Amino acid sequence: KTRNGHEPEFIQAVQEVAETVIPYIVNNEIYHGKNILLRMVEPERLISFRVAWVDDKGEIHVNRGYRIQMNSAIGPYKGGLRFHPTVNASILKFLAFEQVFKNSLTTLPMGGGKGGSDFDPKGKSDDEVMRFCHAFMLELNRHIGPNTDVPAGDIGVGAREVGYLFGMYKKIRNEFTGVLTGKGLSWGGSRIRPEATGYGTVYFAQSMLNTKNDDIKGKTVVISGSGNVAQYAAEKVIQLGGKVLTMSDSSGYIHDKEGIDADKLAFIMDLKNNRRGRISEYTEKYSSATFHKGKKPWSVKCDIALPCATQNELNLEHAKELMKNGCRCVAEGANMPSTAEAIHAFHDAKILFAPGKASNAGGVATSGLEMSQNSLRISWTREEVDERLKGIMSDIHDSCIEYGKEDDGYCNYVKGANIAGFVKVADAMLAQGVI
Ligand code: NDP
Repeated sequence: KTRNGHEPEFIQAVQEVAETVIPYIVNNEIYHGKNILLRMVEPERLISFRVAWVDDKGEIHVNRGYRIQMNSAIGPYKGGLRFHPTVNASILKFLAFEQVFKNSLTTLPMGGGKGGSDFDPKGKSDDEVMRFCHAFMLELNRHIGPNTDVPAGDIGVGAREVGYLFGMYKKIRNEFTGVLTGKGLSWGGSRIRPEATGYGTVYFAQSMLNTKNDDIKGKTVVISGSGNVAQYAAEKVIQLGGKVLTMSDSSGYIHDKEGIDADKLAFIMDLKNNRRGRISEYTEKYSSATFHKGKKPWSVKCDIALPCATQNELNLEHAKELMKNGCRCVAEGANMPSTAEAIHAFHDAKILFAPGKASNAGGVATSGLEMSQNSLRISWTREEVDERLKGIMSDIHDSCIEYGKEDDGYCNYVKGANIAGFVKVADAMLAQGVI
């Protein structure tokens, strides 16, 4: 806390892990006297750099770029890039720290990292986004590589941005490698990667419900966000027979009491991905829906909640409201969307709760599969990737049960995910000595 006191999000993420992992360390002698958690919370490397670029009017702008290389004990650094005006070292360190545990949980050999910039892609032309991405990669390229650090997308970084970033990396280094994931299918991308985080979150929710002899079919589901994760979480819920009632963006949420079906979701995908519009436009097309400006969707009655937008978007009041209205299962598609107080409330009420580092790990897992396909120079079918994704999500669920099941039979998935993720990384660090 003394060293990172000015980084609230990072402290929040570390505290959540420490609460569950410290008792485990105390009970396991091999970790005694090794200061293992202290070593884990210090990034191996934190790079901050200037990104200067020129807008369409010829004006010069300066943004700050970052790459946090958190932990490489079990593989090359791996984690997304976020472009959003709120980006700072605290947010990226929390994301990088979570990523270490998440990547460990996937069973694939990937270390943890995260990066991005305070650049705001909203309202920028295509050419401006391209120039920014090229300027960003001009510096980032010297710190990454297919065996060193493999970035991907996150908030504000989708297929378009990954394309521009990859193009510049290839130009500078004169090599075609799997240095980024989330690439287009025709130039090294993996099938199912765009869908993977959202699909994986729903597969995880399904596994949790199965422990109660229940499933998603016929359930009402409230989703926040309308970006990559939210869109494909909604698609999978619809495919499995659930009813999606809400989606949102930073301006508010829409509530469609008749449910967002496949056609309506196609409208949202076109609105968000191609026209880059606002979610409120949904109500101009569908009269069954209402728009709630500046609000989050957690007051809508539902069986299942999937927060898929951003960190700290679901607080204690929201948690209480959800549970009062009958919600019995929460699976995080976003990273750390629930505050610590909200998570404690879910645990106290013993409802099903999955932390993002477990339930949204399908995205990075499929990125890991993209890296494998790039190394082998082959491309697996949709079915093959989806099967592997399902298998990985089911393995993560099993690990959470193994380390998170309590005496009364309730599974604390936060504890399970933290300890399972910790063990593999900590053991690798012990084996490699004090470095
Ligand atoms: P996108 O940029 O595609 O979508 C983000 C969505 O969240 C948009 O609807 C956006 O609204 C909304 N949002 C962003 N910031 C805020 C905010 N401060 N307040 C309210 N709403 C906000 O990002 P992704 O879907 O890729 O990422 C969503 C979450 O999932 C993030 O937490 C990310 O870290 C996490 N995640 C993503 C993975 C991936 O594979 N993409 C993998 C694992 C986790 P608006 O359009 O108005 O900005």
